Amino acid sequence: MRDFSNDHSALALNTATLGHNVEGFGAGWSPEQVIDSCAARGFGGVVFWRREIGSNAASIGRRAREAGLSVTGLCRAPFLVGPLAPVGRQAVLDDFRSAVDMAADLTAEVLTIVVGGVEPGTKGMAESLKIVADRLSDVCGYAETAGVKLALEPLHPVYGGDRSCLVTLRDAVSLCDVVAAPNLGVAIDVYHVWWDTELAAQLERAGGNRIFGFHLCDWLAETKDVLLDRGMMGDGVADIRGIRGAVEAAGYGGLCEVEVFSKDNWWKRDPNDVLDVLVDRFRAVC
Ligand code: ZN
Repeated sequence: MRDFSNDHSALALNTATLGHNVEGFGAGWSPEQVIDSCAARGFGGVVFWRREIGSNAASIGRRAREAGLSVTGLCRAPFLVGPLAPVGRQAVLDDFRSAVDMAADLTAEVLTIVVGGVEPGTKGMAESLKIVADRLSDVCGYAETAGVKLALEPLHPVYGGDRSCLVTLRDAVSLCDVVAAPNLGVAIDVYHVWWDTELAAQLERAGGNRIFGFHLCDWLAETKDVLLDRGMMGDGVADIRGIRGAVEAAGYGGLCEVEVFSKDNWWKRDPNDVLDVLVDRFRAVC
């Protein structure tokens, strides 16, 4: 397991941590300001959301590389199924391909996928997961040609209804097996998997060449809002170092991306202070 106690070159910022991806929150930093501030602190990478990029993907990607940062990922593909997905198969696939194009222009290593919830008119997870597999199969080849890896991020089961019918790493790896595309893998987010006692076994089943991302935050014991009250690493009950150990034992050696949605705490602070805290916590508790 890597020793981060004196080295945060594997630390990446997901800009959600600064409130950027939600209307009305955040300090309003431009992507360029985010890049410069992360580079000045020695971060290894940055992860953007599509709404921040607009039509400037190529120039933002270039700016990051010139600053010495990798664009570790892009959030995210549209929901592929469920009540929040674009309406109709073709609309989903069109937007999915647009997200792939943006990731390619940005030279983002990975496009993250949150699959969406239970498809209207159906019940339970099984039918929705079949639709997800079909839509993934349609776009994986397009993404491969564009040089973009696709990372399925299973979410905590509390989001099963509207945001993700994919709620365990077990099902995410099974979906990878079904679709069987070389550029399809998984992203592991502490917030979504910390409770799963099967995690280490499923990470081993996934294998290092299918783990495309690792997301850091914490689960607050008395969380007030499962969407927007994530904890900073060290403030909650997740065994972050244990999870990282299992992720690395499975073969992952990439960047670790901090993703803290926190509207009443971290999003209210000066982004400079937040970035400093990330470095401290990464070294101390991750
Ligand atoms: Zn995540």
